[in-house]
Amino acid sequence: MKSWCERKGQGEIGVIEHEGRSFAALGASVQDRHVTGYTRPSAGDIHLSTWCGKTMLACRSKIIDRYHDGSLVLMFRLTGCRFIVGYALGEKGMLFRGELVTGCDDDDAKDAARRIAYRFAELDAQDEYEFEASQAELERLLDIEYRCPKCGHEWQDQWTSACDSECPHCGLKDITALSWDEASD
Ligand SMILES: [Zn+2]
Repeated sequence: MKSWCERKGQGEIGVIEHEGRSFAALGASVQDRHVTGYTRPSAGDIHLSTWCGKTMLACRSKIIDRYHDGSLVLMFRLTGCRFIVGYALGEKGMLFRGELVTGCDDDDAKDAARRIAYRFAELDAQDEYEFEASQAELERLLDIEYRCPKCGHEWQDQWTSACDSECPHCGLKDITALSWDEASD
């Protein structure tokens, strides 16, 4: 596996080559007020690097909040009352997304950082929720009732679809489900 960077206009695109195929990854970039980079621990501080490890932002950083999943609310103090504030998924080699805020003091910057982090955390959680919901939809179980037309035996089964079954009593095959309901869990 090897990786390299390509310049694409203002942005940078990381490319991973793995088993003869190339995958483009999201690169570090500064567009308008939006800053994307990767976290890199450096002497007790967190810096931002480009996708291929070049230092992008090496001013003092401050962790404002740390969530239980390891993600962080970060603030970088620039000169002239400017800050870059945002949200990182972790402190080492993880994606940081943030914004440049200007003309404010530390407290304003912290508030802005929390707002941005909240927005991104919510977007991520929503993606996860939708993914889980779609998985649950695929894997939902049904309570299925069968009655054997030959011997009258009744039984229940749980499966993802109400398919034909075999009578456990007399062995008659291809018995169509009598009724089914979503299983309660
Ligand atoms: Zn039967």
